[in-house]
Amino acid sequence: MKILFTGAAGFIGSHLCELLLRKGHSVIGMDNLITGQRENLQNLFHQPHFRFIRQDVTRYIRIPGSLDAVLHFASPASPPDYLKYPIPTLKVGALGTHNALGVAKSKKALFMLASTSEVYGDPQVNPQPESYWGNVNCIGPRGVYDEAKRFAEAMAMAYCRSHGIPVRIVRIFNTFGPRMRLEDGRAVPNFMTQALRNRPITVYGKGRQTRSLCYISDLIEGIYKLLRSDVQEPVNLGNPHEIPILQLAELIRKIARSKSKIVFRPLPLDDPQVRRPDISLAKKRLKWEPKVSLEKGLQRTLCYFQQALKT
Ligand code: UDP
Repeated sequence: MKILFTGAAGFIGSHLCELLLRKGHSVIGMDNLITGQRENLQNLFHQPHFRFIRQDVTRYIRIPGSLDAVLHFASPASPPDYLKYPIPTLKVGALGTHNALGVAKSKKALFMLASTSEVYGDPQVNPQPESYWGNVNCIGPRGVYDEAKRFAEAMAMAYCRSHGIPVRIVRIFNTFGPRMRLEDGRAVPNFMTQALRNRPITVYGKGRQTRSLCYISDLIEGIYKLLRSDVQEPVNLGNPHEIPILQLAELIRKIARSKSKIVFRPLPLDDPQVRRPDISLAKKRLKWEPKVSLEKGLQRTLCYFQQALKT
């Protein structure tokens, strides 16, 4: 396939572009580099089937020639990032999705959307199945991301229904691994950099809120299976192993053999209290489930952060 990939320089984007090239596809990667990093694509620049275009996808996208698929992954995705860039986050989910769908329509290409567990907001149902409609505060600080992604899903389904464009929608739950930015602000990079520097580990609230963390290699394998499937409805991908954030902080401290203290900081507004994917649909339709344990994934990620802190 010839693929246009938006958000190619991001954490998930760069891993996925690598996988697509390994599978023999050709990839045009697009990114405006506001949260993505050029270094994430270091291994790809010399590959003959990869081309990079620095562009904001909220601007008109002009791609000459044919395309088989448009994978729309561009968006700030960490809470501090979308709080820093609220309007670009809304724009990339709305205008960027519209542009990317327009390209898919004109090329008669398949469209894949990177959606998120944030469409469920602070869920009142745990675990969250795809059929759950969510509990989102549209005007709260996280609303810029949550509503942009909800709009993007609505837009993708409308193009599917009105124009017959094949769509794939992946609702990505918390994912971690190498290439997360040191200053990304999410729990895993924060706790790892704090533990490795023997600085206080900042747990927000009492740390009783839960998350379920998926290792990157599992996630991208699931996304690839979804891409090759015929499932036109949203699919949750994530690891159902759910733990309280305080326990995650303790685990990272232990794996890093760190002397850091754990300190408590105020819980950000609208921070979801629980989160855990119901992955029955992915198991049934994609024959997918995660394989990498939390400990193993954290160990691999820690090696990356150790290296990154040295350079
Ligand atoms: N969190 C924390 N300390 C940090 C960063 C995050 O306690 O230094 C908490 C955050 O409040 C949330 C959880 O860890 O409850 C996961 O946060 P993250 O930013 O990784 O992603 P989210 O799942 O909220 O999108």
